[in-house]
Amino acid sequence: MDLGIKSRTALVCAASAGLGRACALALAREGVSVTITGRNREALEETAEELRKLTDVRISIAVGDITTDEGRAAALLACPNPDILITNAGGPPPGDFRDFSEEDWRAALNANLLTPIALIRATVDCMVTRKFGRIVNITSSAVKSPIPSLALSNTARTGLTGFVAGLSRQVARHNVTINNLLPGPFNTARLQKLAEGTASATGREMEEIIATRAAANPAGRVGQPEEFGAMCAFLCSAQAGYIVGQNILLDGGAFNSTM
Ligand code: NAP
Repeated sequence: MDLGIKSRTALVCAASAGLGRACALALAREGVSVTITGRNREALEETAEELRKLTDVRISIAVGDITTDEGRAAALLACPNPDILITNAGGPPPGDFRDFSEEDWRAALNANLLTPIALIRATVDCMVTRKFGRIVNITSSAVKSPIPSLALSNTARTGLTGFVAGLSRQVARHNVTINNLLPGPFNTARLQKLAEGTASATGREMEEIIATRAAANPAGRVGQPEEFGAMCAFLCSAQAGYIVGQNILLDGGAFNSTM
């Protein structure tokens, strides 16, 4: 299926690894010129080189912390007025909410609520003028089903979900869509890091923790980043203009519900 986005431009945030990288690759495979961001220059350059080898589109990089004004300015300088915006940043740390400082709360709200809003604010009006825009926010299954140890994530991402519910319906008539992708467990460094935390708290092996989680999932496994990237690319397609303000869960069926 041709997704109808060849020659479009995309800014994919936090994309030197994991889910962001997978979204960047899936878009590049559709002929989209992609700018990827990340804090570590070396990792970013390495990923950009890999993407260039796998595709024949222009891949550029913007080094910086996307949760800062400087990082966002660098990203928007490298990719001004993108047709497609994928917002993403590292997830907040786990813990008991009683132990989080005010600074912890501010950092989580900044990374997972205010940063995507700032990026949307900087790009959405040009999309409206152009009569094409696709924005996908990488959030979390925690939006639908809170994760006890991730109070920071549960809170910040739910705020973003509310914002998107409102704004998406104001821009949809201009062929600009905003949707959220909600990952359950995916095979990335983030999953391993969270499992390492549980391992050191419980004395179990990290591999065993991930294997138990995979076995308990209706799909019998954790997700692969490429599966996430494919859904992201479809949401960015020309054909997806009628998908507006949705929260699409990719979790192998882990969230148990009838609808
Ligand atoms: P990951 O494998 O740890 O990859 C994170 C990527 O983001 C790296 O390229 C990293 O590069 C970059 N990054 C992190 N913080 C950044 C920042 N402040 N500015 C710019 N780049 C940044 O994570 P992931 O699994 O892909 O997760 C992506 C998002 O989905 C996270 O918010 C995570 O909480 C959420 N999520 C993941 C899962 C899962 O199972 N994987 C489940 C639910 C939710 P640098 O370190 O070089 O900056």
